[in-house]
Amino acid sequence: MTQSIPLFNSKKQFKIAHLADLNIDDNSPFPLKVPDDFMLQMDLTDPNDPLLKQVLPLKIENQTATGFSTDPVHDLDFTPSPSLIHKYHGRVLLIASPKCDIHCRYCFRRHFPYASHSNTRHWQKALEYIQQDNSIHEVILSGGDPMSLSEGSLVRLIQKIEAIPHIQTLRIHSRTPVVAPSQAPITEFITWAKQSRLNKVLVVHCNHANELSEKTAKLFQQYKQAGFHLLNQSVLLKGVNDQVPILENLSHALFAQGVLPYYLNQLDRVQGSAHFEVNNSTALSLQQALRKKLPGYLLPKLVTDISGVPYKTELNKNQ
Ligand SMILES: *Cc1c(COP(=O)(O)O)cnc(C)c1O
Ligand code: SF4
Repeated sequence: MTQSIPLFNSKKQFKIAHLADLNIDDNSPFPLKVPDDFMLQMDLTDPNDPLLKQVLPLKIENQTATGFSTDPVHDLDFTPSPSLIHKYHGRVLLIASPKCDIHCRYCFRRHFPYASHSNTRHWQKALEYIQQDNSIHEVILSGGDPMSLSEGSLVRLIQKIEAIPHIQTLRIHSRTPVVAPSQAPITEFITWAKQSRLNKVLVVHCNHANELSEKTAKLFQQYKQAGFHLLNQSVLLKGVNDQVPILENLSHALFAQGVLPYYLNQLDRVQGSAHFEVNNSTALSLQQALRKKLPGYLLPKLVTDISGVPYKTELNKNQ
C-alpha cells in the first residue's frame, strides 16, 4: 500500500510503497529532507531502494548502541574559533554553512551544534586565525554543506580566503552537486573559479551509482572546465553499498563523469546510525575483493576517522 509522509520545509509529500512496514519515525529531530533531484533518482515502489534508505527516518535510530555517541570524531575539541576545525597539518576545515539540502541518516554531524558553529559572524574570526598561521596552505569548506549557502555568500567567502597569500588550495566538500545538481552554484562561482589563482578541489559525496544522472554529468563537466579537480568520497553503508558489484559500479560510473574515487569512509559511530555499520573485517574483505576488480586509480582508500588521530587512518587487519 502506498502512503505519504510530509517533507521537511516543503509542501510536497513523499509517496512510498510499503511505508507501513518500515517503522518510520515521524518525530525525528533530524527530519526527512530530500531534494527533488535526489528523489527523481529513487524507485519509490521499492522499500529497499538504496537512495531511499539513506534519507528515511526510522524508529530504529532511537535505539542507543554501545560505542555510538553524538560527537564521535571529537571535532569540538579542535575548534580554535567557533566555525573552524584545525586538526590536520596544513589544512583547516571551515564549517561554512549549518544546513544541507538533504538529511542523510548516517551523518556524523547530525548532532553537531551547527547553529552556534557556523554563522557568517564567525567567518571573520576564522579568517583572522588562518591569516596568522602560515603553515596553513589549504582551506576546506565543509558543513553542513557549503554549497547550501547562497552563491553570493559562497563567492564572497572564497574571495576572502583567496586574499590570504599563503593559501594555495581551496577545497570544497559538498553533497549538493550529487543530490541537488539543479541548486548547485554555477554562475558567479564558475566565473570566480575560472580566473582564480588557487588550486581548486571539489570533493563530492556519492554513495551509489544510482545517484548520478545526466544533470550531475553536465554539472561536473562545468566545474572541470572551470579548473576544479573532482574527487568523490563515499560512506560504506550496510544495505546501501556494502557489495562488491555496487562499489565497483560506483567507481566506474564516477569516472565516466570525470570524478576519481578518493575515500571510502567507515561510518563514524554517531548515535542513530548503528544499523548502517559494516564491521571492519567485512569492510576489509570488500576492499580486498574490489582491489582485484578495479584499476588502482579507481580504488578508493578505505579509511576511518579515529578521534585524536590527525589524519584519516587506512583500515587494516588490526583494527
Ligand atoms: C577529513 C578531514 C580533513 C581532510 O583530510 P584529508 O586527508 O586531507 O582529505 C581535514 N580536517 C578535518 C577535521 C577532517 O576531518
Ligand atoms: S550532506 Fe553531508 S553533512 Fe549533510 S546530512 Fe548528508 S552527510 Fe551530513
